[in-house]
Amino acid sequence: MKEIILIKNGELVLKGLNRNTFEDVLVKNIKKHISKYGNYTLKRAQSTIFIEPTDDDFEFEKALAAVGKVFGIAGYSRACVCEKNMQDIIDNAKVYLENVLSGAKTFKVEAKRSDKTFPLKSPEICYELGGQLLAKFPHLKVDVHNPDVVVTVEVRDYSAYIRANQLHGAGGLPVGTAGRAAILISGGIDSPVAAWCMAKRGLELNAIHFASPPYTSPRAELKVRQLLEKVAAYSGTIRLGVVPFTEIQQEIADKCPEEFFTLIMRRMMMRISERLAAERNCLALITGESLGQVASQTLPALAVTDNVVNMPVLRPLIGMDKEEIVIISRKIDTFDISIQPYEDCCTVFTPKHPKTRPTIAQCIEAEEALGIDELIERAVSGTVYSYID
Ligand code: ATP
Ligand code: MG
Repeated sequence: MKEIILIKNGELVLKGLNRNTFEDVLVKNIKKHISKYGNYTLKRAQSTIFIEPTDDDFEFEKALAAVGKVFGIAGYSRACVCEKNMQDIIDNAKVYLENVLSGAKTFKVEAKRSDKTFPLKSPEICYELGGQLLAKFPHLKVDVHNPDVVVTVEVRDYSAYIRANQLHGAGGLPVGTAGRAAILISGGIDSPVAAWCMAKRGLELNAIHFASPPYTSPRAELKVRQLLEKVAAYSGTIRLGVVPFTEIQQEIADKCPEEFFTLIMRRMMMRISERLAAERNCLALITGESLGQVASQTLPALAVTDNVVNMPVLRPLIGMDKEEIVIISRKIDTFDISIQPYEDCCTVFTPKHPKTRPTIAQCIEAEEALGIDELIERAVSGTVYSYID
């Protein structure tokens, strides 16, 4: 019995004339995600992509799980390949669906017949196969409204395919179709989730992390790498730049009023990030900020951080509660890494009474004593790059 992975395109079905470009990117991304699991052929037809292993070494389960993390896929399933005759479809279905139907109480059969020369029409296929399955699994009942298992038969050009329930795909748009953006990543809960959210909308990710050794440890940086590995399972390879930030933080601590420490630090992060992002043709910055979560995330505080950059700043978590963010972080498996204790450069030199309603003029005055351009120059030139996948 030959088994394949059947993939249904997601939102990109809607993309009109761009559809082919979107599909090309999706196919390229699928290949990147699964090629390490062995040899296969990939075919596409009518919003469906077929992955057919070409030898027994193909790691089917791993490839199936990897497909579940590719953005741009609405649904996917394993399916059995049959000859295009009713007897072969019935014989295969009885064996192939044995496990799943034995564990179910109700089912229904759906048929899709894109080959109109097939002698049975869709309702006849359902009737015929449904009757045979009821005979083989007499404990089953038919429920057309809310069945435990939907058995789907697709009759296509070269073969017929049988599958049980489809799995939910990762949704969204294929990574790369929306361009590229830079995520400012810390070791916290929020920024990896923000990265995932924007990769889901089709952005390719670059990552920027600010490290302040010896105040922050190599452990903190390792944590960021582990978080990005989890995100990269969805987004594909991420280029990470680690920016040396100690000098800037010390200068801020020495030369600026304490209540502005965090705000000025964030303005410096934004300026440097915009420089690094532009070098890599990124069109936007992404942060994990959520309105009102901390003093530096009030609207006036966000306004003064935005003020130092021209690039759009994407904040996908802006309207989410912590609980909603945590749900996503658990789903993408970053939560347990994020909650390991670590020191972020944000937690070094935290003011006792941070300014929550700053104005741009106040910030400009507060950072007057800093040699901003030289500090940025040294941070940019000291940035160390690596790739994470
Ligand atoms: P997170 O959980 O992502 O750390 P947070 O709620 O702790 O977020 P802050 O520490 O105020 O919030 O940081 C706000 C945002 O600034 C983060 O979501 C992230 O995008 C960015 N950021 C914070 N620290 C760093 C860092 N060390 N390197 C790069 N970006 C950072
Ligand atoms: Mg943080």
